Amino acid sequence: MAKINMKTPLVEIDGDEMTRVLWEVIKEKLLIPFIDLKTEYYDLGLVNRDNTNDEITVSSARAIKKYGVGVKCATITANSARQKEYNLKYLHPSPNATIRAILDGTVFRKPISVNRIKPSINTWKAPIVIGRHAYGDVYKASEMEIEGPGKVELVYTKPDGTERRVKVADFEGSGIVQGMHNFDESIRSFARACFIYALAEKLPIWFATKDTISKIYDGRFKTIFNEVYETEFKEKCAAAGIEYFYTLIDDAVARVVKGEGGFLWACKNYDGDVQSDMIASAAGSLAMMTSVLVSPSGVFEYEAAHGTVQQHYYRWQKGEKTSTNPAALIFAWSGALAKRAELDNTPDLLDFSKRLENAVLNVIEDGIMTGDLAKLSDPKPEKILNSWDFIDAIAGRL
Ligand code: NAP
Ligand code: MG
Repeated sequence: MAKINMKTPLVEIDGDEMTRVLWEVIKEKLLIPFIDLKTEYYDLGLVNRDNTNDEITVSSARAIKKYGVGVKCATITANSARQKEYNLKYLHPSPNATIRAILDGTVFRKPISVNRIKPSINTWKAPIVIGRHAYGDVYKASEMEIEGPGKVELVYTKPDGTERRVKVADFEGSGIVQGMHNFDESIRSFARACFIYALAEKLPIWFATKDTISKIYDGRFKTIFNEVYETEFKEKCAAAGIEYFYTLIDDAVARVVKGEGGFLWACKNYDGDVQSDMIASAAGSLAMMTSVLVSPSGVFEYEAAHGTVQQHYYRWQKGEKTSTNPAALIFAWSGALAKRAELDNTPDLLDFSKRLENAVLNVIEDGIMTGDLAKLSDPKPEKILNSWDFIDAIAGRL
């Protein structure tokens, strides 16, 4: 069989532990036999990040900017335990944070749905995708304990030294205070990334804030989202039949639970943090959650939402063939290949990426699955396989 050609390489970012082990198997069994796979390879395994003083991470992000599409394995975010384990020169920053800062992206998380794994909310017919603004608000806030009576104010000092003040509260006793911020440009990037994603995935888009209470702060989010829609995306959305819907956050939450799903929910930072965990667990499993970083300039990075599955890796090192679920990693590859195909206008590659996803879904629907899904499957599974046999079953189907 002739292999499918690729025009432009994918930026391939390798990672750590169990996901690194599976990464190789996926390439060997599911990609290389079918595609003339072209990638520009970056090894972001912790050892190589340490050897290169993290320059490899920066280079990989620049490569994604250059080529437009990357696929990333899960990577260890260093902490003091990892510093000892890997004898690191220093505590490396999170590679995802470094890449996000360079690409200026918004993260979209979408569950992979299969009929056998029923969402906890039985009205949901299609997945809900969360688009989370990944800058500012409570995540970049300054906080202070107030020990006793006194006045707390916000002070804005302009470059010429003039000041504007607004009272926060008169304290009669002890308490707490917090100051948070966001930038118009960051909100605008977030809005653009959400509309670009909604158009690419052909999904309606919802956005919600608490602008009735937070008239200036959340009001600004609402205004900017609306401006971006009106000036840049209204016609494109109309042409694609995509609706933009704004509502209050309380109304959105009520509608999400009663609705049928099948839309992009653009969330402010905190809302996205909390609601993506709700959506992931209501939809089934972390191992079935995909993740893509979309930059406002139209650059894409695909990955699995889960981490390196550390405990499985230690068991694998002792010789066990673990039953780690490779579905989200395979979908990271298929997502990246499909985007590459779309940009390069290579329909054979697009077709392959769909076949690959269908092979994964069909195998699971046939009752053949890994241990994590077996617990959730209704009806009960026919076979529970280790990762290698599971990937072989997918290859057979493909
Ligand atoms: P994790 O790797 O996501 O795993 C947490 C648990 O979830 C696992 O122990 C396993 O549960 C289950 N799980 C996750 N993915 C699975 C899969 N594909 N198949 C089956 N079960 C799966 O999170 P973590 O243990 O908190 O973090 C491990 C490392 O990953 C850390 O060093 C962290 O820094 C890194 N991390 C990286 C990323 C990223 O690169 N995007 C994201 C998150 C974390 P059971 O043990 O019960 O089977
Ligand atoms: Mg969270």
